[in-house]
Amino acid sequence: MLCFFGNNLLRNYMNRLDDRSYFFDQGIYFECQSCGGCCTGDPGSIYVERDDISRIARYLDFPVSHLIEKYLHPHKNSYSILEDSDGRCLFYEDAGCRIYPVRPNQCSTYPFWFENLRSLKEWRRVSRECPGIGSGSSYSKEQVLEMVRSNMDTILKSRITSNKKYQSY
Ligand code: SF4
Repeated sequence: MLCFFGNNLLRNYMNRLDDRSYFFDQGIYFECQSCGGCCTGDPGSIYVERDDISRIARYLDFPVSHLIEKYLHPHKNSYSILEDSDGRCLFYEDAGCRIYPVRPNQCSTYPFWFENLRSLKEWRRVSRECPGIGSGSSYSKEQVLEMVRSNMDTILKSRITSNKKYQSY
């Protein structure tokens, strides 16, 4: 989960999200093309919130312990999904994402992340990596900001120091 902003700055941006105009005031067209570009490539972290873990385990019909042992590794105050040596998420297969309906917030809000939307220049850069941008249905400014806010919230949650840590699952 890549985010360059410290907690205070992130909260500050989050509280003022509705107070300004954006290059996407008239909406953004997006529809995932299932190319797998954001599920493969350079290694990264795929933060999984505590609630996601039980949902994913239930969806796969795995015990939580099996999910943790085979697919996750400790990351921040929870876990991240393991990747293979090429940077491919272990849940990404030829047919697509194996846990698509219960994928973590970091995945479901992509590409509507603050760091991608903070300027038209950044958005154009992401557009070159994500062929879904510019296709499909229009997302209103409000819908986009809802996803941005949700992703920011997850980033902040991931940074909360918890004395329960991952051993409590
Ligand atoms: S890079 Fe874009 S189009 Fe490709 S899988 Fe990710 S969100 Fe979908």
